[in-house]
Amino acid sequence: MNNFAYVKPGSVAEAVKALGTKGARLHAGGTDLLGCVRDGVMPVEKIVSISGIKELNGISARPDGGMRIGALTTIAEVAGHAGIREKYQVLAQAASDVASPQLRNQGTIGGNICQRPRCWYFRGDFNCARKGGDTCYAIEGENQYHAIYGGGPCFYVHPSDTAVALAALQAQLTVAGPNGRRPVRIQDFFISPDKDILKENILLPNEIVADIQLPPITAGTRSSYRKIRSRGTWDFALVSIACVLRIENQNVTSARIVLGGVGPYPWRVEAAEKAVTGKKIDSAGAAAAAQAAVSGTTPLRDTGYKVEMVKGAIEESLLAFA
Ligand SMILES: Cc1cc2nc3c(=O)[nH]c(=O)nc-3n(C[C@H](O)[C@H](O)[C@H](O)COP(=O)(O)OP(=O)(O)OC[C@H]3O[C@@H](n4cnc5c(N)ncnc54)[C@H](O)[C@@H]3O)c2cc1C
Repeated sequence: MNNFAYVKPGSVAEAVKALGTKGARLHAGGTDLLGCVRDGVMPVEKIVSISGIKELNGISARPDGGMRIGALTTIAEVAGHAGIREKYQVLAQAASDVASPQLRNQGTIGGNICQRPRCWYFRGDFNCARKGGDTCYAIEGENQYHAIYGGGPCFYVHPSDTAVALAALQAQLTVAGPNGRRPVRIQDFFISPDKDILKENILLPNEIVADIQLPPITAGTRSSYRKIRSRGTWDFALVSIACVLRIENQNVTSARIVLGGVGPYPWRVEAAEKAVTGKKIDSAGAAAAAQAAVSGTTPLRDTGYKVEMVKGAIEESLLAFA
């Protein structure tokens, strides 16, 4: 590991300033960043720890009935918070499904949504396209965990569980930078590889996610998160699904269905949402929604199984609401 400087600013403004020099990297819980530094995934000259900035901590209720989650709030706190568990089950479930208890205690929700890709070529000794090279090695190589939606020129999948739930909840992020703070809808936060292959989100090097704002939940809203992984202990999602449905008199009046583990960012399946909206959920409707969801998939050699998995996950999740 190369030597690097370490600073621990006491305010967001100081952190933004400290991040404004070449090779500076933001450190929250460090569970992802330090692995990247150790493995030489990206050059690091200065680590800027935001762990001492008090305003970035904690979960609070908003006057409109929504909630604010500070970016430094640990994933364990999100998973265990009574208000989140009561109103935003999809997020509590997604947070509970992240990694292991140790990682949930140390990792933060801001770090979870900003973590770097887990693709083994990106993390390994390959000068892949995401590191500035000219090849995505997954196309011809070992690609069983890669994208079936939105892939190309790089085929990584976004690794975060909580981002999928936050996308289904239509959360908003507060981004702090040298010119102050601005709201960013989570659906505008992530970048597809064909727009910028070197980045996963819109943040500039000297910008910070300060908090996550959850909108109020309307009456009749129900939500769930399901995660399929290759073993029954900590692991990233092969496929995950976040559903936020509003159900009145047994009819679905609105639906947000977002998938994880299948694309470069939380992948909203609008065709499935349309297929269930305005109807009572039954087996035929769930199967139609599942079929509609996979119509645009482009699997690589070894990811065809994910198409079937997505269909199963959608049917199972929808029928659980019926
Ligand atoms: C063995 C293992 C298994 C895992 N399994 C899962 C899993 O099943 N599901 C899952 O979702 N995740 C999983 N993870 C990822 C883990 O959840 C993340 O490492 C963790 O959430 C990152 O949070 P952190 O606070 O430690 O971030 P850090 O490591 O400090 O930062 C991660 C990245 O985000 C940036 N960053 C952090 N906070 C901010 C912020 N507020 N604003 C802007 N940028 C920021 C950092 O600069 C860095 O690039 C796993 C990790 C490991 C090591």
